[in-house]
Amino acid sequence: MRTPFIAGNWKMHMDRAEAKALAQAMKTELAGVPHKLMVAPPFTALETVGAVLQGSNILLGAQNMAPATSGAHTGEISPLMLKDLGVSVVILGHSERRHSYGETDALINEKVRLALQEGLEVILCVGETLEEREANRVNQVVETQMKEGLKGVTADQLENVTIAYEPVWAIGTGKTATPDDADAVHTTVREIVADLYGAGEADKMVIQYGGSVKPDNVKGLMGRDNIDGALVGGASLKTETFVPIAQFDR
Ligand code: PEP
Repeated sequence: MRTPFIAGNWKMHMDRAEAKALAQAMKTELAGVPHKLMVAPPFTALETVGAVLQGSNILLGAQNMAPATSGAHTGEISPLMLKDLGVSVVILGHSERRHSYGETDALINEKVRLALQEGLEVILCVGETLEEREANRVNQVVETQMKEGLKGVTADQLENVTIAYEPVWAIGTGKTATPDDADAVHTTVREIVADLYGAGEADKMVIQYGGSVKPDNVKGLMGRDNIDGALVGGASLKTETFVPIAQFDR
């Protein structure tokens, strides 16, 4: 009932020529895939990749955005600038932004509300550190990040929100949460959406898993009832790994 959503986060990789070649290959190899697809190149390659992806079934995503439309924000990129480049989805609250660049739930919430107001879709990332998991605080951490991140977001706007559950200890480490572990948190995430917006909205919410998703573990993860897609980092940088993930079949 929920359309699976596979998104690639290219992070700070690739110059424009490399990004163009990868986008061209993905456009060709992913034509006809029935899932919702997105790639998020670095800001510097958005225009190049956007031109390649025009008319394809792959959406153009951005990895971050400023909490303001314009003004004195040195080094920042506004949602209007992203839209001008053809971006339709923005990843917000990625753990690398939270933990390496000090982004707080309050700041992420400002960005989420502005992105939605400007008509962008949002992938809101949540997830616990290893320390938090070992202290049995997974549900509490995820609940706080969701409640704070979604503050002021209306039920109508929720259709433009995807939640990505990304345990921080599984990102870029090669350690994937087991399908059981991931599904348990995804179930909690859906319950939190139900608490905030009601069961109908919770049923519709697409919840991605992120953290070392690879061709050989995607089927096991996507086979779970509450796992609706993936946010993919490392494996999104090559067609050999991203294409089989994007083509997964339950
Ligand atoms: C990510 O950065 O969101 C991610 C899931 O990375 P990786 O797939 O490399 O763990």
